[in-house]
Amino acid sequence: MTLADFTTTADARPASLRDALGDRVLFAGDPGYDAARVPWNVAVDQRPYAVVRPETPEEVVEVVRAAAAAGLRVAPQSTGHAAAALADTDLANVVLVSLAGMRGVTVDPVTRTARVLGGSLWNDVIEATAPHGLTALHGSAGDVSVVGYTLSGGLSFYARAHGLAINTVQAVQVVIADGSLVRASADENAELFWAMRGGSGAFGVVVSLELDLLSYTDVFAGMMLWDASRAVEISHTWAEWTATAPESATTTLRVMNFPPLPELPPFLSGRSVVVIDGAILETDAVASALLAPLRALAPEMDTFTRIPAAGLLAVHMDPPGPTPAVTAHSMLMELPAEAVEAFVAAGATPGVFFAELRHLGGAIARRPEHAGAVASAEGAYLAHTVAMVPFPEAEAEADDAVRAGLAALERWKASNLMLNFIDGGADRDAGFGEAVERLRALKQRFDPHDVFASAHAL
Ligand SMILES: Cc1cc2nc3c(=O)[nH]c(=O)nc-3n(C[C@H](O)[C@H](O)[C@H](O)COP(=O)(O)OP(=O)(O)OC[C@H]3O[C@@H](n4cnc5c(N)ncnc54)[C@H](O)[C@@H]3O)c2cc1C
Repeated sequence: MTLADFTTTADARPASLRDALGDRVLFAGDPGYDAARVPWNVAVDQRPYAVVRPETPEEVVEVVRAAAAAGLRVAPQSTGHAAAALADTDLANVVLVSLAGMRGVTVDPVTRTARVLGGSLWNDVIEATAPHGLTALHGSAGDVSVVGYTLSGGLSFYARAHGLAINTVQAVQVVIADGSLVRASADENAELFWAMRGGSGAFGVVVSLELDLLSYTDVFAGMMLWDASRAVEISHTWAEWTATAPESATTTLRVMNFPPLPELPPFLSGRSVVVIDGAILETDAVASALLAPLRALAPEMDTFTRIPAAGLLAVHMDPPGPTPAVTAHSMLMELPAEAVEAFVAAGATPGVFFAELRHLGGAIARRPEHAGAVASAEGAYLAHTVAMVPFPEAEAEADDAVRAGLAALERWKASNLMLNFIDGGADRDAGFGEAVERLRALKQRFDPHDVFASAHAL
């Protein structure tokens, strides 16, 4: 299909968008459209009406106005890590606004805050903050975007001590459905500010975000690894250990199954392993004493030591680039011995790449004063399963594998979910929690024609 095909239609939509952004608007059939529509999760074959790549807030304003005037919807996307969640929405009438060209970070070391452009990645932030001895509540992967992660919760290795990243947001600059660029903070557009912290891309395109930073130049962090033949024993010990671990310790446990691939290091290639990793915000002596019960299990590898805070981005060994995957998750209220065994079985489910438990509680469970719609998470652990989708026909089987693994944990599940870990097909209300009715009312007010399509629709 060519541009001429579109412009002969009665509404001439492409022309109005083309006027707004010239050749940074790509329609199906345009050279570049296919490359531009590919998200980080390359298992998702997203085919929006158009892909637009603005480079300035003014261009975002023009795109939103042109799209809304043409009766099209708008979906902000920074990286496509959550493309599977957006895929629950029909994109045939949606202009995908890729923020990938709007990256940049300014740090104010005095106020310990950062101003982050709408498409910035955590790698960008940590590179800018580290020289000032500052860091932020980033997640396990440096190529996840700050806005997508933070405005849907943001679970970091600092979380049990410092809470969810969403509570560090001081202000957002956002283009809303009427095409205006507004600042929302505790003092300006306070209701929109409340809604953005959880409602995220359902309320507009964020062109920048202001965040509080943390003063850590280094942290005690790392990982321990064992062969999966010891998964039951290691997982039981970790479950008991987390039951009394202080809030300064945020760790995860994974059972991982690696295919034999030459690009993998020999200690992973073709092996199933158990990995515990995380950060302990204590002195070396206290952290070492805390880790003693895990070290007593004689890990084959143990990298826990004091590292520069920026190094925390590499500890979880997330994939270095775009990856085709399906995932599922549940929140667990507790992790008794029987649940540990069900979890280990989940990790051994054929097709599951890894099964993960993230230790929650502490500040994650506490809602700070003046918080937004989403601010905390109930549950003692988050259970997460991931399967690879090497070719499209493998998707159904991969999806079954991740769900089958979690089904065995049904008895210990909480009713809530974490928005950031919802990868499609799940009930978003369980992620919005008690905020959902007020969020819907505010969505009606700020976006009455449902212009914005988001990974987590309201
Ligand atoms: C490998 C991997 C590791 C992860 N690790 C963690 C982790 O440690 N902790 C954690 O909490 N989560 C983690 N996640 C989940 C991740 O935080 C979510 O997938 C998040 O939504 C990704 O944000 P993104 O902007 O990169 O993705 P995108 O798919 O680009 O965006 C997701 C949604 O965010 C919104 N959005 C993004 N940018 C904008 C913008 N500029 N304006 C308005 N809305 C916007 C939109 O609603 C969009 O649909 C991980 C995911 C992956 C795949």
